[in-house]
Amino acid sequence: MIKCDKCNHDAIIYQRYSGMHLCETHFKEDLLRRIKRTIRKHGMIKSGDKIAVALSGGKDSFLLLNVLYEIVSVRRDVELFVISVDEGIEGYRDRLLTRASSFLKELGLFYRVGSFREEIGRTLDEIVSMGFKETPCSFCGVFRKRILNRLAREHGATKVATGHNLDDEAQSILMNYLKGDIERLARLMPLRPIEGFIPRIKPLREIPEREITLYGLLEDLPTTVMECPYASRAFRSDIREVLNILEDRHPGISYSIIRGFEKIRPLLPDRLEEEEIWRCETCGEPSSGRICKACMLKDRFLR
Ligand SMILES: [Zn+2]
Ligand SMILES: [Zn+2]
Repeated sequence: MIKCDKCNHDAIIYQRYSGMHLCETHFKEDLLRRIKRTIRKHGMIKSGDKIAVALSGGKDSFLLLNVLYEIVSVRRDVELFVISVDEGIEGYRDRLLTRASSFLKELGLFYRVGSFREEIGRTLDEIVSMGFKETPCSFCGVFRKRILNRLAREHGATKVATGHNLDDEAQSILMNYLKGDIERLARLMPLRPIEGFIPRIKPLREIPEREITLYGLLEDLPTTVMECPYASRAFRSDIREVLNILEDRHPGISYSIIRGFEKIRPLLPDRLEEEEIWRCETCGEPSSGRICKACMLKDRFLR
């Protein structure tokens, strides 16, 4: 059995990008240290912050919650609460959220769940059964974002924390490069806040997905490996495959992708000149046109 590089216990993981073998204790310690370093490096948490943790019920969101809970429990100047979105996907999100809510009760955190049913009058299952040509993810993303932002704002949050990990982030950066979508690329890391839109933080953006999976197994988190039944995301899954091959042959490539993006980001405008931020005439939320995308979609679903 290979030993840990920091003590003489058995190693449970080999980090190819760092060349280290780590035991359970040192793996967890290293993981938490790196998340805290990301938070510090990007100034993600400031005195007076009230952070809304977006909990999907997946392993990433529980790790995120554990870390933030630990940080906040020793700081009196930062508050934490939890928000979730129930899209109305039977047998999937309902199960994840039931487990999440008993876990949260133990932590004693304020918890609010917003739903597609309340927000748009239809569940995602119902919308899918209406047979639109777009993928469910393209509707779902718009409303999830909308609901999280509204819940966070209504309860006085100054930041929304999401569980995006290194793989998610490297995939998003690469996808936008390849599509030449510079506006979306810039939006992954906005430089200035947009009025009415609560800034996002991604404390896990430097943690590889496989390490989060391992942490979830070791900590026995109340989650499963269920995948959303509507997950298709054709382009993203191709990118994931390509990145996995690259990472295998060139360990650390995902880190290079996000480091490179961090260097390029200050050179990109926050948004292109002509794209002003409006208030949606129907719902009053920030929008890139007179009527926001959520209201346009909603109109189709309720017809
Ligand atoms: Zn060790
Ligand atoms: Zn609107």
